[in-house]
Amino acid sequence: MADAILNLIGSLLGNPAAWALGGGYLVVNVASCIFKPYKVCKKCNRSRETHSTIFPGTFGWCRACKGVGYRLRVGARLLGKKL
Ligand SMILES: [Zn+2]
Repeated sequence: MADAILNLIGSLLGNPAAWALGGGYLVVNVASCIFKPYKVCKKCNRSRETHSTIFPGTFGWCRACKGVGYRLRVGARLLGKKL
């Protein structure tokens, strides 16, 4: 089973079409960051809050996104954008 997966990865790495596809995806991904530089924060799902598990009803700003509810995409960071 693991051998089959390794074989598949090996044949993909040796395949120029796969590289072109991956490179193309990367270029399109980074280009899309010009217009859509943010993604939803997975920790708080845009609620911007983090709730305490020990003290019910208490909450603070989400630490992952610093209370804004969204994160900067990696591609946007490459383009020099800031939150
Ligand atoms: Zn968050």
